[in-house]
Amino acid sequence: MCVFFVGAGPGDPELITVKGQRLLGQADIIIYAGSLVNPALLSLAKNGAAIYNSASMTLDEVIAVMEQGVSGGKLVVRLHTGDPSIYGAIQEQMDALTAKQIAFEVIPGVSSFLATAAALKQEYTLPDVSQTVIITRLEGRTPVPEKEQLSKLASHEATMCIFLSVHMLDNVVQELVDGGYTSETPVAIVQKASWPDQKILRGTLATIAQVVRESGIDRTAMIVVGKVLSTDYALSRLYAPEFGHMFRQAQGEK
Ligand code: SAH
Repeated sequence: MCVFFVGAGPGDPELITVKGQRLLGQADIIIYAGSLVNPALLSLAKNGAAIYNSASMTLDEVIAVMEQGVSGGKLVVRLHTGDPSIYGAIQEQMDALTAKQIAFEVIPGVSSFLATAAALKQEYTLPDVSQTVIITRLEGRTPVPEKEQLSKLASHEATMCIFLSVHMLDNVVQELVDGGYTSETPVAIVQKASWPDQKILRGTLATIAQVVRESGIDRTAMIVVGKVLSTDYALSRLYAPEFGHMFRQAQGEK
C-alpha cells in the first residue's frame, strides 16, 4: 500500500481532480489540512474511513498515522489545500516517508492562485504587459531568502500572486512601491476563491490597504498585483489572422 498526497483544490469540492476524488472515495484513512480544506470534500469518504485533522497534529504524529495505516494494508490519503507543492509543507512528509521506505504518490490540485484568476476572469500573462507570474509571500514566521524579498521581486513589474500575506498588507504595499511598482498599479484581492462566500476587492497600491481594512478581510486571500489587471494589452499572436503555427496556416500563406 502507498500514501497518496492529494491536492484538494481551492475550495469548491468540484475542483478536485477526478483521480483525487476517486482516491478520496477509496481511502481507509484520510488526513486533511483542517484550516483550509473544504470539509464538504470529506463527504466523499467511504463509510468507516478514519478521518484525522492535521491542524492539531505534529509532523511525527502525521507520519505515525501514515506508517501504521500502510503497514496494516490501508489506503492513506493526505489531503492538502490547492496544489500540495505550493506552501504545502509536503517535502518534510515525503522525506520522512522515503526514510522509512514507505511508498507515496502525489496527485496535483488546482492551486488557489489559479482559482483566483478564474474568479477575477483574468489572464495573468498578457502580451506586452507581462509574460511572467511570480508566486511569492511576505516573510512571516517562515523566513524568505534575502534575494527573494518582495521589493526585489517587484523590480520586474511582472504579475505577482502573493500568498499568506493579506494580514500584512501595509508591508506588502510598502515593499512593492519601494521595489518599483507605481502607486497606480492595480491590485485585486480574492478571499476564499471558489467558495460560496468568495469575495473580490479591487484597488490600486495607493488605495487597497484602506479597502481591505474596511472589508475586514484578514486571511485565506490571494493578493494579485500587476498591470495585467488594467485593460490595455496587445492581442495574442496565437489567434492573429496573419500568424501561422503548427496547427493553423496564416491567412494569405500558401
Ligand atoms: N497549497 C495551497 C496554498 C496553501 S498556503 C494552494 O496551492 O493554493 C495558504 C494560502 O493560500 C492562504 O494564506 C491564501 O493566501 C491562499 N489561499 C488558499 N486558498 C485560497 C482561496 N480559496 N482563495 C484565495 N486564497 C487562498
